[in-house]
Amino acid sequence: MTQQAKNKFTYYLGDVMYINVTNLCTNRCEFCIRSTGETVGGVNLLLKDERFSAEDIINELKTTFSGKCREIVFCGYGEPLIKLDIVKETAKFIKDNYPQVPIRVNTNGHANLIHKRNIIPELTGLIDKISVSLNSDNAEQYAEICKPNFDKEITYQAVKDFIKECAQNGIETTATVVSGFKDIEVNLENCEKIAMGLGAKFRVREWLPAGYDS
Ligand code: SF4
Repeated sequence: MTQQAKNKFTYYLGDVMYINVTNLCTNRCEFCIRSTGETVGGVNLLLKDERFSAEDIINELKTTFSGKCREIVFCGYGEPLIKLDIVKETAKFIKDNYPQVPIRVNTNGHANLIHKRNIIPELTGLIDKISVSLNSDNAEQYAEICKPNFDKEITYQAVKDFIKECAQNGIETTATVVSGFKDIEVNLENCEKIAMGLGAKFRVREWLPAGYDS
């Protein structure tokens, strides 16, 4: 047990369980709920302490997992794949103990830049589905909307490469775009073409004041 302060990692929206593994992110998106409040769907997602282990999450999961759970999603208030080892270890526990429940990760697609290697083969067999934020049809607008920590040209290309690599590794992959935030206009038609070209599905996530649809 390495947990320093009492975190709440798991929460339900409907019959989907979400696991929040970090408040850290390599983007600062215009529409991010992190800059507009501490809740998504009325749930406070702010972790009190980033120092914890997969064991801490698993211990909570054992008490909060419901047999009616339709899906488990690594998602929340930051970029889950920053905590790659914790995601992998927790997903392995879920696969071993609740194999009937599909596992999804919602990600900004920066993981290969963050970890400086191709991490996607490490996810295969653990993660069934992945939703990757594409958010634009071009690097310039992506940088304006998402304000990544990494170089803008490199980041947008890395996100597209990540989407393609996930799809090629047999993970059900969806590229997503947030729509409806203030006056930001994204060419959804072009984004869909890019997603299809990368072998992914495409989904528009409507921005909602209480948090976007998942
Ligand atoms: S990628 Fe997600 S968590 Fe990170 S800043 Fe953007 S909306 Fe927020």
